[in-house]
Amino acid sequence: MTQYGFLLDHRKCIGCHACTVACKAENDVPVGSFRTWVKYQENGTFPTVKRNFAVLRCNHCTNAPCVTICPVTALSKEKNGVVDIDRDVCIGCRACMQACPYDAIYLNEDLGAVEKCHFCNHRLEQNREPACVIVCPEQAIVSGDLHDPNSKISQMTKELRSEVRRPEQNTGPNVHYVGHEPSILEPGAAERPPLYLWSDRPNDKPEAWPESVPTLANTRTVLDTGHKVEWGFGVALYLVTKGIAGGAAMLAPFAVGFGLRSTAAGWAPEVLALVFTTLTTILLIEDLKRPWKFFTLLTRPNLKSWLVKGAYVLITFSGLTSAILAARFFDLPQYVDTLRFPNLIFGALAAAYTAFLFKQCEGRDLWQSSLVLPHLLSQAVLGGAFALLPFSEGNDALARVAIVATLVHIFLSLLEQLRKHSTENSKQAAGFLTRVRCAGVPAFQVGLALSFLSIPLALAVPAIAWLPALAGLLLFEVAFVRAGQLPPLS
Ligand code: SF4
Repeated sequence: MTQYGFLLDHRKCIGCHACTVACKAENDVPVGSFRTWVKYQENGTFPTVKRNFAVLRCNHCTNAPCVTICPVTALSKEKNGVVDIDRDVCIGCRACMQACPYDAIYLNEDLGAVEKCHFCNHRLEQNREPACVIVCPEQAIVSGDLHDPNSKISQMTKELRSEVRRPEQNTGPNVHYVGHEPSILEPGAAERPPLYLWSDRPNDKPEAWPESVPTLANTRTVLDTGHKVEWGFGVALYLVTKGIAGGAAMLAPFAVGFGLRSTAAGWAPEVLALVFTTLTTILLIEDLKRPWKFFTLLTRPNLKSWLVKGAYVLITFSGLTSAILAARFFDLPQYVDTLRFPNLIFGALAAAYTAFLFKQCEGRDLWQSSLVLPHLLSQAVLGGAFALLPFSEGNDALARVAIVATLVHIFLSLLEQLRKHSTENSKQAAGFLTRVRCAGVPAFQVGLALSFLSIPLALAVPAIAWLPALAGLLLFEVAFVRAGQLPPLS
């Protein structure tokens, strides 16, 4: 199989940006976005300073995580090895931007679709080389088939012992580098001043950088691109609503033991599950840049994507929950009891599938944590128990479940922040956790404080304990979702 790739020869690159400009002209790239760009890094102190360059772009990965996560197969690995994108199909979920560990994808705000380097595939079809290769005055960009041992690029990568960006990501990058300063390919290693040479650093990331960033002395990134945080409050809220829905269903089979005995209380678990699943679906659709294309998820699904699997889980969960409500409406209690157990499993799946979706977001190392799965389940029990507490009467069993789930949530949150992280990206993101602010308050710290406050309230004033409990959970999710996206990838 053919595998087109690039070799960037930084022994020759003069940092002139001709490749960037040619790419923009050829592909009509919007102002402020780049399919290829030149990162500048300065090493040393005056008067012994050296400026280094790195030309960055999509790596047309062999195991492309952006292709795996795209729910509607808008991204595909073509026969020539190029990772291409069909902008007409894209629904604007931006999951690929979370999956790419190289910051290679941007959102075209005008189209509501993502774009990236596609190797000038339209030119390849006419046997012409990509625009950046043609324009480079130093012939510092070589393109060709990396699988053809006789091609110039294959021979150069072998002879010059080329390197690729972030090989630890196991994506199999097909853009090779020679003659570069090694640290320039390490995201976040160099200090980043608030202003780049000719532009602002992306200004929607005001958080002060943790001490763990940077790791190199006397090294500054003075020009780079970087994307704004794409998943924000809506995704955090979706995690909470989905958790409440799933948790209510997980506790439903034990409703009588939890003091949910009255007629109204008997309806509560499924009513809560259905209302909050509906809210979850609305949040999911609302967060798309092309919400009217939501049904593409069902008409051309990528069955490998956890966005699609998650949609199937939510649909089944809603169906089963509606069936239980119908059985209760038609006074068939034996069916209510029988269906609640399988719905416990779908409630747990609805709460937990995001852990697998986060795993597919390979650009976000914090989200790869093995703590995410147990954490989401404990958060679901917490959310379901506190939401059901106002309906409980007669004993404090449900309050005790809520308290245990809250203690597990607090423990796992602190463990996530304090544990030893195995990658630089994850370490940096954990450092950012305590710096994220929401409505002016430090989200992680205030979130955990509210969780602590909900513990005595669960026993003392169960009718209102859900307020601090769910507000605390939401603040934690805001911190976790945002912090994962703050470390630089380029
Ligand atoms: Fe390109 Fe990023 Fe996808 Fe790799 S993961 S093919 S670098 S967009």
